[in-house]
Amino acid sequence: MSEQSHPEIREAVRKLCAGFPGEYWRALDRDRTYPTEFVRTLTEAGFLSVLIPEEYGGSGLGLSAATAVLEEIHRSGGNGGGCHAQMYTMGTVLKHGSKAQKEAYLPKIASGELRLQAFGVTEPTAGTDTTRISTFAKRVGDKYVVNGQKIWISRAEHSDLMVLLVRTTPREEAARPADGMSVLLVDMRQAVGNGLTIRPIRTMLNHATTELFFDNLEVPVENLVGEEGKGFRYILDGMNAERILIAAECIGDGRFFIDRASAYAKDRSVFGRAIGENQGVQFPIARNHVQLSAAALMVDHAAALFEAGQPCGTEANMAKMLASEASWAAADTCIQTHGGFGFAEEYDVERKFRETRLYQVAPISTNLILSHVGTHVLGMPKSF
Ligand SMILES: Cc1cc2nc3c(=O)[nH]c(=O)nc-3n(C[C@H](O)[C@H](O)[C@H](O)COP(=O)(O)OP(=O)(O)OC[C@H]3O[C@@H](n4cnc5c(N)ncnc54)[C@H](O)[C@@H]3O)c2cc1C
Repeated sequence: MSEQSHPEIREAVRKLCAGFPGEYWRALDRDRTYPTEFVRTLTEAGFLSVLIPEEYGGSGLGLSAATAVLEEIHRSGGNGGGCHAQMYTMGTVLKHGSKAQKEAYLPKIASGELRLQAFGVTEPTAGTDTTRISTFAKRVGDKYVVNGQKIWISRAEHSDLMVLLVRTTPREEAARPADGMSVLLVDMRQAVGNGLTIRPIRTMLNHATTELFFDNLEVPVENLVGEEGKGFRYILDGMNAERILIAAECIGDGRFFIDRASAYAKDRSVFGRAIGENQGVQFPIARNHVQLSAAALMVDHAAALFEAGQPCGTEANMAKMLASEASWAAADTCIQTHGGFGFAEEYDVERKFRETRLYQVAPISTNLILSHVGTHVLGMPKSF
């Protein structure tokens, strides 16, 4: 959204984030610990339930409101990665769940009593080729028995529920590769230690990501979301929201870098003048602003299509690619503008630099977006 959209939400999020300055995020980053206090405050202020309809206790706003929240968190120097999925993972239940599932879960997700912010898709051997996942749920009486492994499942240790994509029919026996996958809602509180093991992965950013091992985990059949075998479609639906929201986080990161770089360029004096007087310093920052502004318009456009219930897969992909590249370019300029101080922890620039790099890889890597555009939009041949 343009900087002016949802001004009240933006103002309120800015105020909230002022209570969580660089020192807060730096300390967490150093120890790779979860932003518990920030997430609690954001939940209590109602910002994580903006997408949940009012009848289930949320504020029933559109995706653009959620983009405003996440953009402001990231612009402030914070990071929404600890909880952004609490906003949109429930979309799978809202859109495809039964009445009983919606009534049981959505009000508690809206209040924050239940955290549904783990989304288990990626597997070590399948990679981006999701149809090759092999985590399998075998129906035995009134339960599914799950065996397999997932990787890069973020916030699993900080989630009460997880949306899990499994195979219920082997790929070779399914009519099409994308058939035969199902979505299960896993209650993590019961699962851990009873067939589910979570192993944290230390990464270059503080993202609470993990590896999951399933060893005869039992999941009641009533936790199947929608129809058996149609899970891949349900997951794809949710991915558009995720890509648009993460693009908004990149816009926020980009604005953080541009704010910091332009302020430093005005302030820092070398050779008797502000470094920002030199066009070699000034123009890259100006270019970043131009690129980021264009990317922000694409994020707006994709969010507007999503809100209108229109197809938006291509636009969500393009928004994510443009925004993640623009934020990364701004991050690089910001480091360069700060000279040696760009590498000093206390400036927060090096931390944000590491954080924003993720978004060219996850939740979908740039090459896969280019492949989508090349084949689906431009009709060129597919390489896989
Ligand atoms: C910190 C972090 C958090 C994550 N959180 C989650 C989560 O919560 N839940 C979840 O399910 N997943 C999560 N992921 C996984 C993430 O979505 C994947 O890492 C991402 O989609 C890329 O998949 P991959 O790592 O398997 O890469 P691969 O599929 O192995 O690809 C590796 C590289 O090769 C390129 N490539 C592959 N095939 C082609 C091709 N045909 N043509 C051109 N290039 C190709 C890719 O673009 C990529 O650059 C997370 C990842 C990270 C790092």
